[in-house]
Amino acid sequence: MSTADSTGGTDETGNAHLVRRWQGALMDNYGTPRIPIVRGEGARLWDADGREYLDFVGGIAVNSLGTAHPAVVRAVSEQIATLGHVSNLFVAEPPVALAERLLGLFGRPGRVYFCNSGAEAVEAAFKIGRRTGRTHMVATAGGFHGRTMGALALTGQPAKRDPFLPLPADVTHVPYGDADALRGAVTEETALVVLEPIQGENGVVVPPEGYLAAAREITAATGTLLVLDEVQTGIGRTGHWFACQAQGVEPDVVTLAKGLGAGLPIGATVAFGKAAELLAPGHHGSTFGGNPVSCAAALAVLDTIAGEGVLDHVKRVGDRLREAIRGLGHPLVDRVRGAGLLLGIVLTEPVAPQVQKAAQDAGFLVNACVPDVVRLAPPLIVGEDEADALVRALPGILDAVDGTRRAGD
Ligand code: PMP
Repeated sequence: MSTADSTGGTDETGNAHLVRRWQGALMDNYGTPRIPIVRGEGARLWDADGREYLDFVGGIAVNSLGTAHPAVVRAVSEQIATLGHVSNLFVAEPPVALAERLLGLFGRPGRVYFCNSGAEAVEAAFKIGRRTGRTHMVATAGGFHGRTMGALALTGQPAKRDPFLPLPADVTHVPYGDADALRGAVTEETALVVLEPIQGENGVVVPPEGYLAAAREITAATGTLLVLDEVQTGIGRTGHWFACQAQGVEPDVVTLAKGLGAGLPIGATVAFGKAAELLAPGHHGSTFGGNPVSCAAALAVLDTIAGEGVLDHVKRVGDRLREAIRGLGHPLVDRVRGAGLLLGIVLTEPVAPQVQKAAQDAGFLVNACVPDVVRLAPPLIVGEDEADALVRALPGILDAVDGTRRAGD
């Protein structure tokens, strides 16, 4: 609540106060005005003025079980009270159990490297690639793989790369979804190809049917590693444990993060076959990677997804949401793309930031990830009623933006 004091009316605890403190203390990496969030429950969040929002951002596809899920709270509390951190100089049960569970979900033998974020998971994949003895890599235009220097070298977004050139790799970026372009770029000198099964940050771009299978065939023919970056699409987001499983494709390396830890920092690089043997002791490591508390949270996520039918729920609610938004037939909506609960509302005009703002004013958090796409990545446990509430509100939200746009024409 805003609490004007008797001496001159400064907010002590409200939105304005928190934003002022934020501006004075934190680097502004995203450059957008933001609302201060103080607590949440499931898919609902509250700001510092006590206003409630339905959350279709999910901490950027991180809060797989929403906020304050009892299973995560319990697992994290018990683990921090037992063993919070021990480092990789020792062995602890939670990372071992989590690695076994992840490999079990892939149904293939392999090895897991734990770290703390998506970018770090990609860095490890990059290093695995370098250990093939080849240096050339192929990634996709528009692809996003993180902001550390190796991951940035693979990222295909000039605005994010250009301020940091030169980047440390010999990377060819090919158009996403074009199997012929991929075939043309990959040679026997290529260490790895890295792809997102759906490009998340680039506006939820879905490749043509058969693209991942073509990538598998092309890389197998040249002895090149196929790295699938499932940082955004993995852990149930598309209604499958991993998006590659929907395509029946078996990559050499998969990177995971975001939804794996339900809000606790964790990344994982899962390597199969010869890729699992390329990093020898001393080649790579992380102090915090495999932290027992993050791993306990991740185990709670996997248990809950498996035990509560979350994959089916994601498919059902995702399909319902996609069809309902399409069915609105609103002139600002060109189409809706994506899978499960990773959806992009493609607009007919580049007004996604305005839609994001109008949605926020109406009590819904959505993300304008590129100028003409509004991304929805709510908690996987978002209710049908909550999805329906967004659908009911959308015409008003879009009309508000359309009206402003017309007035400005
Ligand atoms: N890969 C993909 C596909 C991502 O979507 C992201 C984050 N948006 C990353 C890597 C980087 O993850 P992080 O921000 O945790 O470093």
